[in-house]
Amino acid sequence: MGKTSPRIVLCPKCGAAVRWEAESRFRPFCSARCKGMDLGAWANDEYRVAAEAPPELPDHISPPYDE
Ligand SMILES: [Zn+2]
Repeated sequence: MGKTSPRIVLCPKCGAAVRWEAESRFRPFCSARCKGMDLGAWANDEYRVAAEAPPELPDHISPPYDE
């Protein structure tokens, strides 16, 4: 046994096992797709839309009943 086993980490995006070694260029992500998607979600639409989306409004606004 001359080689030590690589450490295994889990991809933060999809949970796949990733070897923590030089070959795994996208670590801790399992792939470029996981790495890119994660950054994209933050930098682009998802974050912004969530922050700017107006609260849900009812179809019609009922005035308070005058009793
Ligand atoms: Zn992944």
